[in-house]
Amino acid sequence: MRATNRAVVAPTPELDVVDLGPTSSLMEFDIDLAARTAWIHRTMPAPDGPRCLSCGAAHPCRWARWARCVLMGAGWSDAEIATEIDLRSSG
Ligand SMILES: [Zn+2]
Repeated sequence: MRATNRAVVAPTPELDVVDLGPTSSLMEFDIDLAARTAWIHRTMPAPDGPRCLSCGAAHPCRWARWARCVLMGAGWSDAEIATEIDLRSSG
């Protein structure tokens, strides 16, 4: 198996924000994928509480948590993630 410096973050329910090391270890592709995932798995209101627009799980779903973890590891704030989701939703 070839060595790589890419960060690997599994989308598990136990996942929390972790230190992924220097931002340079995250490739732009990872960050863009996480930003798109955060948008795809954004919240929607439901009678029993917020739900994921994509998968219908209680929000934040496992994918939304994974995306947030990657973006936070890349130095994004909650406000920047929310702004990114808003921008993608309006575009
Ligand atoms: Zn989801």
